[in-house]
Amino acid sequence: MKKNHKYIFVIGGVMSGVGKGIATASVGKVLQSRGYKVNLVKVDPYLNVDAGTMNPTEHGEAFVLSSGLETDQDMGNYERFLNRDLPEENYLTSGMVYKRVLEKERNLEYGGKCIEAIPHVRDEIRERYERAASVNGSEISVIEIGGTIGDFQNALFMDAARVMHMDNPSSVAFIMVSYLPVPGTLGEMKTRPTQNAIRQLNSYGIQPDFIIGRSPEPLDARRKNKIAKSSGIKPEHVISAPDISSIYDVPLNFDADNLPDLLLKHLKLKPKKKNEIAKDGLKSWKKFANSVKNTKRELNIAVVGKYFDTGDFVLSDAYISVIEAIKFSAYAQGVKPKLTWIDSKNFETGKLKTSMLSDFDGLVVPGGFGTSGVEGIIKAIKYARENKIPYFGLCYGMQLMVVEYARHKASLKGATTREINPKAEHLVIDIMPEQLELMKNKDYGGTMRLGQYPASIKKGTIARKVYKAEEVAERHRHRYEVNPEYVGKLEEAGLVFSGTSPDKTLMEIAELPQSEHPFMVGTQFHPELIARPLDPHPLFTAFIKASYNNKSK
Ligand code: GLN
Repeated sequence: MKKNHKYIFVIGGVMSGVGKGIATASVGKVLQSRGYKVNLVKVDPYLNVDAGTMNPTEHGEAFVLSSGLETDQDMGNYERFLNRDLPEENYLTSGMVYKRVLEKERNLEYGGKCIEAIPHVRDEIRERYERAASVNGSEISVIEIGGTIGDFQNALFMDAARVMHMDNPSSVAFIMVSYLPVPGTLGEMKTRPTQNAIRQLNSYGIQPDFIIGRSPEPLDARRKNKIAKSSGIKPEHVISAPDISSIYDVPLNFDADNLPDLLLKHLKLKPKKKNEIAKDGLKSWKKFANSVKNTKRELNIAVVGKYFDTGDFVLSDAYISVIEAIKFSAYAQGVKPKLTWIDSKNFETGKLKTSMLSDFDGLVVPGGFGTSGVEGIIKAIKYARENKIPYFGLCYGMQLMVVEYARHKASLKGATTREINPKAEHLVIDIMPEQLELMKNKDYGGTMRLGQYPASIKKGTIARKVYKAEEVAERHRHRYEVNPEYVGKLEEAGLVFSGTSPDKTLMEIAELPQSEHPFMVGTQFHPELIARPLDPHPLFTAFIKASYNNKSK
């Protein structure tokens, strides 16, 4: 084990979906506020090798790290809370672990042994926990094991943690994030499910050191004592985490409950006082968290997309980084974004008329894949362009902005992207040749153009004014591209490619001159992936400003 490194494992009790990811991110945040370099690690026990092949309505958005690894949306929260890029070593799935174990077996790396879940898979997991601890100069790793205690799938991940604790008890701590129901008919908070979950964890050979009690209401002293007594935990180690309206308040609540100092004490560490992060502590965070609660002036933003047809609750998950990025820039500008989700298919069927978009201050079209709802999106973009509504297109939103422009301004009749109709005459968005080869071989997993690439920013454009830089680095996730054969024609018709790959072959940003439109910008990359609460993304900020100006008009 890395010398002096501390590991905190976060495990779920009772049931999933109670905010274990936010709790983990918040534990990271409060430890960081004590001057420590914190690493946040996510374990997804499913068999997918990464999160890239899953439908967003199934598992929420795929969050792309700068390395290009497609991960779970929790990694997005981790980066946003820590205000720090995380390396790909910080994301583990069962699929990834097994794949490596099987490769090693095929390569005779186990020296002819019989390969078993325990010890070989478990030890591979442990090695990965330790590798994550050593790659980015961190001092404490907080590792969230996905799922709930008792799941079949996450048992080996728990066992790897147990063995690490056995080898080095003072360097490993366990937090159980549990749920305490308040049944409507009783009106009383029940601790029994949590007590049972702790016992179940005990049967794995793990005793939790802290309990984070999620509940509709705060845990009172009586409930805390009850859990403590029945399970051998210090009463002050039972932390109350009631439902609250803003996730950004969670670190502040943990801090108020003294969690960071108790955790440090438990791990035999002292808070650091002198370094820059420690000096700020949670001050900037608090300021941001308060702006989330206290901002009143509203801005009406329409988000037109295509992943809305599986029930409301999935919707925000599919676009979580976009939503958060809009919020960060808006709050920093003193406005509260009111987002309205519009299923683009409604513009195709005629259920909604695009003129309804005039009720909004700005329009965002986020990323997406496939053909459904696309013509509706193009209609919405046309309306925003013609009626000078600030428009921000992300990835597919940029490609479809180019398609719309090609059709209606560059006289390229029926222009489209190969993704919609490969036989169309004017494929203004086409696929890169190497991608075509991958598709032929059904080589889909982790093969898009992924992760961070540089873009050169053209002088005299909105992008340049906003970034104030000649070159920027942004994260990508796409297979299709503006077709270089059409760049000249589109430029002649007035579209500006203000960002390109440094060799000028790939179009990274498209915009209209401000003399034509107040803000019509599309990015081939996903700026939302690097927007942070304490570091909003300048393009989102520019979009918010334009929307605000539109509102005041
Ligand atoms: N479907 C488009 C592509 O593959 C856009 C992808 C996206 O929006 N992330 O290029």
